[in-house]
Amino acid sequence: MEIINFTAYKPAAIRGGYTDKILRVDLSSAAISIDTVDQEFKEKFVGGRGYALKLIWDGTSAETQSDSPENILVLSGGPLCSEPRFPGTGKFIVGTISPLTETFVDSNVGGHFAPLMKLCGFDAIAITGVSHKDVVVAIDGDKGSIEIIEAPQFDQETELGALSYGEALLNLITEGQIHENIAAVTAGVGALNTRFGIINSLYFDPRRKRLRAKQAGRGGTGTVMRQKGLRGVVVKSALPRIGANNPVDPKGVKEAGSKLKRVISQMDPKQLRLSSWGTPVLVEYMDRYHLLPVQNYQYGQHPDSPKVFADVFLEKYFTKRLPDGCYLGCNLACAKGAEDVQLTRGPMAGKTVGIDGPEYESAAAVTSMGVFDPQFVMEYNWYCDNYGLDTISMGVTASFLMECYQRGFLTEEEVGYRLEWGNVKIADRLLHETAQGKGFGRVCGQGVRRAKEWVAKQYSIRTGRPVDSVMAELNKFAMEVKGLEFSMYIPKESLAQQGGYGFALKGPQHDEAWLIFIDQIHNELPTFETKAEALKWFPLVRTWFNAVGLCKLPWIDVRHPEAASTEDPSKNHPSLSYYVDYMNATTGSQKTMEDLLEDSERLYMLQKLINLRHGKGTREHDQIPERAMGPAFPNEYQAREEYYDQWLKEQLGLHELPAALEERHRLLMQLRQKAYSKLCDVVYEEKGYSLDGIPLPETVEKLRLLDRQALDLLQGHGMEFMKRALSN
Ligand code: SF4
Repeated sequence: MEIINFTAYKPAAIRGGYTDKILRVDLSSAAISIDTVDQEFKEKFVGGRGYALKLIWDGTSAETQSDSPENILVLSGGPLCSEPRFPGTGKFIVGTISPLTETFVDSNVGGHFAPLMKLCGFDAIAITGVSHKDVVVAIDGDKGSIEIIEAPQFDQETELGALSYGEALLNLITEGQIHENIAAVTAGVGALNTRFGIINSLYFDPRRKRLRAKQAGRGGTGTVMRQKGLRGVVVKSALPRIGANNPVDPKGVKEAGSKLKRVISQMDPKQLRLSSWGTPVLVEYMDRYHLLPVQNYQYGQHPDSPKVFADVFLEKYFTKRLPDGCYLGCNLACAKGAEDVQLTRGPMAGKTVGIDGPEYESAAAVTSMGVFDPQFVMEYNWYCDNYGLDTISMGVTASFLMECYQRGFLTEEEVGYRLEWGNVKIADRLLHETAQGKGFGRVCGQGVRRAKEWVAKQYSIRTGRPVDSVMAELNKFAMEVKGLEFSMYIPKESLAQQGGYGFALKGPQHDEAWLIFIDQIHNELPTFETKAEALKWFPLVRTWFNAVGLCKLPWIDVRHPEAASTEDPSKNHPSLSYYVDYMNATTGSQKTMEDLLEDSERLYMLQKLINLRHGKGTREHDQIPERAMGPAFPNEYQAREEYYDQWLKEQLGLHELPAALEERHRLLMQLRQKAYSKLCDVVYEEKGYSLDGIPLPETVEKLRLLDRQALDLLQGHGMEFMKRALSN
């Protein structure tokens, strides 16, 4: 392997969860440098998503595009990451300017990469520039070396995949003895050919005796990685993990971790059973409550759904009785996987592989295409991981195009084949074409927003209908906001989740506000006010998890036995108190939950400012498609006619409704749009924004973010206070 640049260094010691070092690599000049983090930076921006936001706020500008050399790919854990005595501590954030949204995106991912990165002496790695040839960055904390090396080349099949390439690379580095003390992030050929490439986080699982993968799936982080000419980042350290985070109060950490682990062992088997079934357990819940995307979110339920319920995967594929934590110490252990699955389709048909997943999202991406075949779910999952594609964006874009075909916006001639619902062969073909950048896959690989523009143009040429009027029709069912595809929950009947998707700063991904479960299944947000309040509170708590390097599932998916007797059970405060204890015991802070929320609010606001800077920060960019707020077309109304009629009668206080279904549909959508508009007004006020969704200067100032850039930005949006502040 040709070494392009090399630096010897001494890994910084970890104190109170931090190394206080950020590794910077510029791929244009092959420069390697190490920054020291000062106290103010650490206090204000916490870690993880906060570090990514601040580095991107300072290091990029309104002109920065996802493929600009100055775009930064940030990999950052957090102070609470890497502690096996507490559950869910293997998480880190990949933050960058997204090729789908062209504003900041963060995607959280597990595995052993971030803990090993910290043992190598870094809280974050920030990669800029573009290399003219493919490279790998290798960090060896044991030797004290950082290398930029020319990416080794393997055979064609290995080169195609992020998983296969990562395995070959680690085999090369370890001379065929891959072990637990090495981990890597990689991106595959699908990341190069689409806008929704993922980053795989690879780690060795000694129980399964193979490399496993978790994914930073959303927003095209892998695409940015490949555009930079970066094929992988490898971290290696043999330092022991227990105690390595060097908390200020180790006893306090142990106590907080033991309490949370006890809640998980006691309650998960009585609740979601994630430790046995993994997240596919959600397919059954979502189907039961009409929330499972079927045919591009037209329908929420299907008679064939039981074919892809969790018990099928458990019986047929998952390796049972293996504790599947994606990092040491997680007893929720939801990272299910299967061994020796024979692929039956695609370029690698006949090959036997280990498969990590499927997660709920990947199974629902397949049902969204109208397919209910568990073998296809497994293969779709594996191929997406190996190519380096986001299973969600791939499935939602394919489903959108299938609906375009269904409604006559696309023809067989334009696609090259009949793009029908529920056809496994077609879904499979489109997947491979997309990953390989061939045929109609080149349209699909652009994601829903750009595919929609392409379809509108083609249809307009074919029919003479103005492009704008075609776009208006497509916008009803194009499931994207800000350029990102919706994740896999139908929000039509949940105003709270509509806001959760519309206001989500990176676009409609549920990890900012997963309110569907508490709103639709637990009925814990009964009033407009409770929904609006939840839309401020939940994103802040979730932002905190992303800043400190923790998994949210042990908090949000396992209800503490005492939560029911608290004022607001959905917030699960008894478990949250363990997190506050864990934070204080690690860093030596004496923070309350309110303090942590204030820190989060600062990070949330910084992301809002980046959105504003990149033209995605105002009210118009929080608007959601009609399909997200109700039945976009009469056929959807008809599918649940009794339910919608009843809803309409209650809302209008009527006993009789108009006979024409079209008229009832129109009335319903009018009410839904009004409710969403009112939600925007109320939530903006809660968050300290103007009615146009722009942060009020005093809100920004209160959070200590009013630097020169923020002042100019807000002034550019006509904030009067700014004019005064600048003239003083
Ligand atoms: S709950 Fe699941 S995703 Fe979260 S840390 Fe544990 S195994 Fe990983």
